Amino acid sequence: MKYYSLNHNAPKVSFQEAVIQGLAPDKGLYFPESIAPLPSDFFENIEQYSNEKIAYEAIKQFVGNEIPEENLKQIIAETLCFDFPTVKVEENIYSLELYHGPTMAFKDVGARFMSRCLAYFNKDTQDSKNTVLVATSGDTGGAVASGFLGVAGVDVVILYPSGKVSDIQERQLTTLGQNIRALEVDGVFDDCQDMVKKAFLDESLKGKNLTSANSINIARWLPQMFYFFFAYKQLKSIKKPMVFSCPSGNFGNICAGIMAKRLGLPIEHFVASTNVNDTVPQFLATGTYTPKPSKATISNAMDVGNPSNFIRIQELYHHDLNEFNKDFSSYSYDDETTTAALGAIYKTTGYIAEPHGVVGYLGLKKEMLNYPNAIGIFLETAHPIKFLDVVEPILHFKLPIPKQIESVLNKKKVSMKIQTYDDLRFFLQTS
Ligand SMILES: *Cc1c(COP(=O)(O)O)cnc(C)c1O
Repeated sequence: MKYYSLNHNAPKVSFQEAVIQGLAPDKGLYFPESIAPLPSDFFENIEQYSNEKIAYEAIKQFVGNEIPEENLKQIIAETLCFDFPTVKVEENIYSLELYHGPTMAFKDVGARFMSRCLAYFNKDTQDSKNTVLVATSGDTGGAVASGFLGVAGVDVVILYPSGKVSDIQERQLTTLGQNIRALEVDGVFDDCQDMVKKAFLDESLKGKNLTSANSINIARWLPQMFYFFFAYKQLKSIKKPMVFSCPSGNFGNICAGIMAKRLGLPIEHFVASTNVNDTVPQFLATGTYTPKPSKATISNAMDVGNPSNFIRIQELYHHDLNEFNKDFSSYSYDDETTTAALGAIYKTTGYIAEPHGVVGYLGLKKEMLNYPNAIGIFLETAHPIKFLDVVEPILHFKLPIPKQIESVLNKKKVSMKIQTYDDLRFFLQTS
């Protein structure tokens, strides 16, 4: 499989090159040259297949022969080491819980898959290491730290804004050791992101083989297709059309869902649900795409004013608003509405959601008015404990601490404070 740059000004590359480079030299995102649907009997028999088999069938054309079958199957097995249950919340509404992994965020899947692909590509080159450089507002960093821990040939450097991530999130980033190092930036998330972008353009760091680990990287983005197949497998026997709602920030998850549909998965409609960072809902309403500075909300993993994967979604819909409107909607919800709904869902159903999932739920409920004969599935992208500062005051009780979280709570934080880009460059050059 070859990948082309969506800026159309760079050579086509292999899967391996696209994973290692992250972004194309012309700063475009990589996109697969072709998408071949899976045979219809695959979907007819899907409930008989293991998650690993399903994932292998979904991703194999995108990897091609660059990772041998046996190794790819091993990578998938290590990636999918936890469950992806669909939980009935109310009549015809299901939560697809993506948070049962090691850091309790859906990003575990992409991070684990990508780290193992990089390790495979590095296996024969002991002396040339890759350095994964990533800025996080909270969840990405933990998933990347855990996913890459102990992976040979890869060093990880995580930048996070000092005092702006939760205690649990900070511990997930700073307590692992080994090949994972955390830099605590005196600033906000955007400052971390700016430093990372500068580092990628810095000629003096060329020898460090810097790569990114956010969803612009195809090896983090594509495995997110798997969830939609797993939900379909579990809910197929209901024999109703399916509407999926993804709480969206950089729109990697929902873009992977659209890919799953192009592989033949019968999905009736997509809803990209956002907080007040509503660049995409505005685009669908007006036809013009106007990125904005991000606004802080209680669903902070979605505080994105210029979603990086939206360009891939535009490619999938051929930049045509009419095509979008056939199976894609996008709605925005403010914190007040989200808080009220979180409480109401618990009160009427007993289900404990967290702010991102609730935004997904709200968008789903709105869209379901157009699909009275369908079932709706919203993605629950993180465990409520990760947003306990928001969830507990609404529910008026303390959430039990899951074992994955407990295990980091007593570990010692190790991080280094930095202030400027020069501090980051010095750190990278000398380590
Ligand atoms: C990253 C994240 C999202 C947004 O996912 P995208 O693929 O960037 O749209 C939603 N919820 C949580 C909890 C996240 O960590």
